[in-house]
Amino acid sequence: MSLPLVREWTEPEIEEIVKMQKQYYTSMETRSVSFRRAQLQRLKEAVKRSEEEILAALYKDLNKSDVEAFTSEVGLVYQEINLTLKRLKKWTKPKRVKTALTHIGSKGWLQPEPYGTVLIIAPWNYPFQLVMAPLIGAIAAGNTAVIKPSELTPHVSKIIAKLIGDFFAPSYLAVIEGGLEVSQSLLKQPVDYIFFTGSTGVGKVVMEAAAKQLIPVTLELGGKSPCIVHKDANVKLAAKRIVFGKFMNVGQTCIAPDYLYVHRSVKPELVQAIREAVELFYGTDPVQLDRYGKIVNGKHFNRLLAYLKDGSILYGGTYNESLHKIAPTLLDKVSWADSVMQDEIFGPILPILEYEDLQEVIHTINSHPKPLALYAFTDSPEIQERITSSISFGGGCINDTLMHIATPHLPFGGVGGSGMGSYHGEYSFQTFSHYKSILKQTNLFDLSFRYPSSKNKLGLI
Ligand code: NAD
Repeated sequence: MSLPLVREWTEPEIEEIVKMQKQYYTSMETRSVSFRRAQLQRLKEAVKRSEEEILAALYKDLNKSDVEAFTSEVGLVYQEINLTLKRLKKWTKPKRVKTALTHIGSKGWLQPEPYGTVLIIAPWNYPFQLVMAPLIGAIAAGNTAVIKPSELTPHVSKIIAKLIGDFFAPSYLAVIEGGLEVSQSLLKQPVDYIFFTGSTGVGKVVMEAAAKQLIPVTLELGGKSPCIVHKDANVKLAAKRIVFGKFMNVGQTCIAPDYLYVHRSVKPELVQAIREAVELFYGTDPVQLDRYGKIVNGKHFNRLLAYLKDGSILYGGTYNESLHKIAPTLLDKVSWADSVMQDEIFGPILPILEYEDLQEVIHTINSHPKPLALYAFTDSPEIQERITSSISFGGGCINDTLMHIATPHLPFGGVGGSGMGSYHGEYSFQTFSHYKSILKQTNLFDLSFRYPSSKNKLGLI
């Protein structure tokens, strides 16, 4: 049975899907490693067969070029599936632990088990990858899954619904398309785990709903991710890597450098190098460039235009309203009181703050919500250590941007206001598994000292 592609889901229908999945889960079919591997192979095949349509949908919804769409969406999905197929057997094995002296004769281990039926809610900025990467973890761990893609990228939502609907039964994997109402109905369901990616504000709504049923959650949220360029940085290389991270998907990346903190002595050199890097990657008129991305919709476009009134425009600042495009823009003379410094920017606008004393930077960042990512450009191991050990953030890079998200060997996630929990590679498997602690006692002998007996305190009974 396959699901219809686009439809208005009613709450009773959503309840029915969740009920079907919970029932199917109890059949134990999803538990064997061979079943999980077969489903991952199937998913890979489904993505392969629809690859062109996926790339076309990403272009329609976000103007993503094929290269960007492949490297930041489809390619990452293949990488996750391949690694999971290779390592799954090992990950599913129980993990032995040491035996305490008081427990002599017994054995202890951690036994991973699936949660059951999981709910995955995704945002629009990497609308394919942010559905598929958690889904791979959910399948690997042996769960069934209900998936809600973002309504703001309808072409991608539709292709995900088709791909899953054509290859999987809804009692195992189901895509429920829709917006706020559908999401709210889903959050009332008695699922066993919720994996949410989106804004910090909606993350609070999700956690509140989950709390009502004590459903465990992973929250992959957003925030303002700082990028520090110290006086001893390799400025030219830093500029290229900052431009790469900030203007990919026109800044609509949860871990994009939100703002720059640059040491006063290297600011002119850095600004010049950023301009050169922008022109190298996107030419002198990026707004007209077909492979330069667009802002997802009019609401976000207008929200971003309002930021252009803050400080002064040092570079860029041009836009095209009908195309929803804004050129890479550098803002100067910005302070923390400006609106551009209040919320996550999520667009191609980069405010530049300067500093003399690194301690002030550390203090200011620490007095704001904990960022999802942090980037530090410096050649000094002491400064690298000082920054990474004195600021709390989800994850980040030294002398690079974004790349920490692209390796399956590092867990990806936020902390505090930027989220809780993490995933990718084995960490996805762990996220979607409950690790049971099991102690197996010996019957060969019985130490009596734990029993309530007035005699025989240390010996055997
Ligand atoms: P969003 O929070 O508005 O929406 C995310 C999902 O939640 C969508 O599917 C949406 O339909 C649903 N939703 C929206 N309002 C809801 C509500 N009141 N109740 C229940 N569900 C609701 O986020 P967005 O605008 O789609 O995405 C942008 C945000 O996501 C940014 O803040 C960005 O930093 C963050 N993000 C984080 C990561 C990460 O991995 N940490 C990745 C991508 C995006």
